[in-house]
Amino acid sequence: MPLELVQGDIAAETTCALVTAANAQLAGGGGVDGVIHRAAGPRLLAAIRAIGGTPTGSAVITPAFDLSRQGVKHVIHAVGPIWRGGRQQEATLLAGAYRRTLELAIGAGCGSVSFPAISTGVYGYPLEAALDIAIGTIQTYLETHAGLHVRLVLYDRGTLNTAQRVLDRQRKPPPAAAPPDALE
Ligand code: ADP
Repeated sequence: MPLELVQGDIAAETTCALVTAANAQLAGGGGVDGVIHRAAGPRLLAAIRAIGGTPTGSAVITPAFDLSRQGVKHVIHAVGPIWRGGRQQEATLLAGAYRRTLELAIGAGCGSVSFPAISTGVYGYPLEAALDIAIGTIQTYLETHAGLHVRLVLYDRGTLNTAQRVLDRQRKPPPAAAPPDALE
């Protein structure tokens, strides 16, 4: 099962790479970013400050510092878009953040990676639309990188249920076209 949906705290994950929802200034933040920084220790902030910034829709990779105690090797800082109504390339930027993160994980030699639901907290992206992009982008990537194990870590039960619904919908084959005689 290459894409797994789970409920929980991303900072407790033991995959090769943990993804955090960062900002373009790489300044550290609250939400999931605060949780990951607390778990990784102050060297994580120093590492991203040294990088300086990265555009929305992209990501950067650092060591996992104190998270290495639980087997995590890398933190990938993905910058999703702030929701501004849907006409500011938000969908493209969100998909880009997921794709770039997956490329960085593969490039670092990781066989497993854990994502939070990027942009769905303070950045205000409507949950179901964001999960549709997250799951679609990950599934498409896995079609050509079958060895990678991806966990999408949803914070609460309701979010997990929404993600499961989105995954089921995407898996369902499109309805077959009606045969011509059925239209008569
Ligand atoms: P963004 O600024 O990209 O919106 P947030 O950190 O505000 O990022 O929220 C992203 C998502 O992560 C939200 O759905 C939030 O509920 C969820 N979240 C918050 N804390 C955790 C955690 N410890 N583990 C997993 N997900 C979390």
